[in-house]
Amino acid sequence: MVPHIEPNPTIPFHVPKLIGQQLLDVILRRHLEKFSCSVEMGTELRSFEQFDKGVTAVLAKNGILETFDTKWVIGADGAKGIARKQLGLTFLGETRDDVRMVMGDIRLHGVGLDRTYWHRFGSFKTRAVSLRPTDEVGEDGWQFVIAAPDIDLTKLAQSEELIMEIIASLVPTKVTFNKIIWVSEFRANIRMVNKLSEGRGFVVGDAAHVHSPTGGQGLNSGIQDAFNLGWKLALVEKGLANKSLLETYSAERLPVISEMLDKTTTILNQAVKTENMVTTRSPILFMLGINYRFSSIVVDEFSTPGKPINAYGMLDDDRLEAGDRAPDAPNILQMRRGESDAKTLFGLYRPSYHTVLVFTSSVAGATPILGALEAYAKSVVQSAVILPSSATGITVASPADFVLVDQGGHAYSAYLVEAGQTKVFVIRPDGVIGAVVHGAEGMKKYFSGIFLGV
Ligand SMILES: Cc1cc2nc3c(=O)[nH]c(=O)nc-3n(C[C@H](O)[C@H](O)[C@H](O)COP(=O)(O)OP(=O)(O)OC[C@H]3O[C@@H](n4cnc5c(N)ncnc54)[C@H](O)[C@@H]3O)c2cc1C
Repeated sequence: MVPHIEPNPTIPFHVPKLIGQQLLDVILRRHLEKFSCSVEMGTELRSFEQFDKGVTAVLAKNGILETFDTKWVIGADGAKGIARKQLGLTFLGETRDDVRMVMGDIRLHGVGLDRTYWHRFGSFKTRAVSLRPTDEVGEDGWQFVIAAPDIDLTKLAQSEELIMEIIASLVPTKVTFNKIIWVSEFRANIRMVNKLSEGRGFVVGDAAHVHSPTGGQGLNSGIQDAFNLGWKLALVEKGLANKSLLETYSAERLPVISEMLDKTTTILNQAVKTENMVTTRSPILFMLGINYRFSSIVVDEFSTPGKPINAYGMLDDDRLEAGDRAPDAPNILQMRRGESDAKTLFGLYRPSYHTVLVFTSSVAGATPILGALEAYAKSVVQSAVILPSSATGITVASPADFVLVDQGGHAYSAYLVEAGQTKVFVIRPDGVIGAVVHGAEGMKKYFSGIFLGV
């Protein structure tokens, strides 16, 4: 399904892993706990009303209604959620009746059924079942997908007996069933909102866009929505950015989502035509080319206007522009008094900080830029001077948060910086390059589009 690509310095995580949503839920909740934040289970959002200064939501807890005052509402309530409807957003697109399945998790033992493979038996045009091993529901756990155009799938989803009967009839080995964990009927919907916010309300994830699962883009798109919105909302809430920054959430994400719907629908049509749901994925589906080069808040003083590229981008190692994903680089030596240790650029970036990278051949070369940085809140902007491995007479006496030496040359290579050149990158909290500039003036121009009163 996925061509094997070796990890490299700029893309350290190249090997895809399949992970079920129940496990991902646990990982996300554990992460939230680190920030003293927890998900209140058994609580339903029934409605909300917006005012100038906030939002009043009506919640139902164990059937008892209560109101809750808040400043913002982010609807992450999935395709059937109410947030999108309450905000009056449209959800145009199509429902594909030709792509219907029953899916779920099941525990079963099949004689000789190898658990290192994802199996498919039968034909999706007539009847087929796919079985993907998943230890998340038990050592005999499988995720199943049944396609059977000749059967009423709504009825099938309600009958465990029929599901087992169909699986047993399609798998060419003796199957012993343990139990079905969950079942759901799935019908492909290809839809997206006209905008991602209205006033103090926003939508992220499937609440904003649904599409065919071919391509595996859904969950990742939802996380990217949340990340794009999260840092902007945090700055507005802290009083550091103007509310207008929030408009760039829709402006940046909608073209990406629209392209994602196009790509996944093309794969779906191909899969239906060839009867092969398990197509080989193009590396473009790793989503590493997704870019906001077109965004009004990015600043690039180096790029020459070329042919516009679409929001999913191209996998082109020779160009790196404002709006692109910031690449990683390993083996960077952090210079400190008395000791030094190796870092990666990803290890440096923080989701609540802008990181200003100053590529320069001497610490002194960064002085004007670091001086200009004094104007910005230290709690949301950090800086790093990156020296080439050839740098001599290195001093750690610098106002920068980090003084680094690019020992392996990976950072200079990934960020396309030539020897002797001074080049400044501003990396946004969401890991996107906000600016590629020559010096302090360009950096100030970028931050004037982000922060208030600077
Ligand atoms: C068959 C299939 C295969 C897929 N494969 C992939 C894949 O390989 N890779 C990938 O990236 N994506 C995949 N996806 C897509 C992925 O599952 C979704 O994009 C993702 O789950 C969306 O997450 P979400 O949090 O936005 O919405 P959901 O997962 O739908 O979560 C919404 C939550 O909100 C809750 N909720 C709803 N209404 C309310 C309310 N009023 N009050 C309180 N809570 C409410 C719901 O109970 C639910 O828990 C696949 C989807 C399908 C159907």
